[in-house]
This record gives sequence, structure tokens and C-alpha cells, in this order.
Amino acid sequence: MRILVVEDEKKVASFIQRGLEGEGFTVDLASDGEEGVAMGKQNNYDLILMDIMLPKMDGLSAIKALREEGVPAPVLCLTAKDTVEDIVAGLDSGSDDYLTKPFAFAELLARVRALVRRGTQERGAEIVYADLKLDPVAHKVWRGDNEIDLTAKEYALLEFFMRNPETTLTRTMIAEHVWDYTFDSFTNIIDVYVNYLRKKVDRDYTQKLIHTVRGVGYVLKED
Ligand code: CA
Repeated sequence: MRILVVEDEKKVASFIQRGLEGEGFTVDLASDGEEGVAMGKQNNYDLILMDIMLPKMDGLSAIKALREEGVPAPVLCLTAKDTVEDIVAGLDSGSDDYLTKPFAFAELLARVRALVRRGTQERGAEIVYADLKLDPVAHKVWRGDNEIDLTAKEYALLEFFMRNPETTLTRTMIAEHVWDYTFDSFTNIIDVYVNYLRKKVDRDYTQKLIHTVRGVGYVLKED
């Protein structure tokens, strides 16, 4: 689970980051509204925590911008003001919930868990590509009528491919999404795992689905 925290107060940002990482979440930080929008568009977050008073672009405008770009991640607003007008403005802009500063970490965590759970349920529908079918709730995968037995990492890798079909995925993108990790020597591991996955998904079929994009990465497509 990957969370973006958009917060310009360094102390608050690192307090949230430490707490959430301690609970097993992966946390990225953005320190102004523009950076928040850029990162929110670029990565596939499970949740975005958005402060309202931000430099460059305020939080409400940032949420609107993200929604206009079709970013589906649930958004939890952090606001220093708790007037009805502010809360309504926040919800109108496309946020899902709000929390008034100062807050206890336990309260933040409860809201985060509720929103992430809701998001996961909404994403629970089966994903189908060609004759591949993936059930994100049961963590099961089929090709045609045959269930494919995958390890947790192979499953996460295939899910990432199936959520982004016919899109070239660079090794960096794969590393960030599947391993929450980025550095160059890691790309060998990705190649190894893609080969594991190919053996299970493609080896016994004439129609190959996982293709190498030379010098770039991989793509899931029908030819
Ligand atoms: Ca602020």
C-alpha cells in the first residue's frame, strides 16, 4: 500500500511518514500543491493525504486538478480550519474525508485504514485481458480455464501488468510498484521475475502476452 503525503510543514510530514511506515505503508512526500499533483498523476497511490494550506497551489485546487486528470485514489484532507464551509469545500473538491489539525496519530491511522479498505473494495472487480483473468480479492489468476499458481511477487507483478495493459512498463516503474524500491542493480531481479512469470503465463501457449521492449522494459499485449 502506497500513500502520498502532501504537506509543507516538515515536522508534520515526517511525523505522518514515520507513523505510517511503522504500520507497513510505503510513504512518499510532496511539499507543495504542484509537486503533489505531479506525483499523484505519475504514481498509482492507494491514498493521498492532502494538507489544505500549501505553497504554490492550495490543497483544494490540487485535489480538483487530480480528479480532472482522472486520478482515482481516495483523498483525506488535512485542515487547520474546521468550519462547515471549509469542510464542504473540501468534500466538493473531490476529497473523501477530512481531519482537523492537530490530530492524534491513532485517529489519522483509523481514517487511513477505512479509506484504503474502501478503495480496495472498489478495486475488487475482476480484471480481464485477452484470456487472462485476475481476481484481486481472492488473489487468483486464470488463463482460459486453467488456474495459474503464482507466488506473491509474481502475482503482484502480473496484477501491475494487467492494470496497465498495452502500456510499456519500464523496469523503474515495475520496481517502484511491485517492490517499493528503486536502484539500478535491482533491474536484474525484475528480469528474473518476469521470466518466472512468463514460464507460468506464456510458455504453454502459442499466443504470448508478456513481451520485451528492448532497452526499455516490458509490455502486456496480444501480439
Ligand atoms: Ca500547510
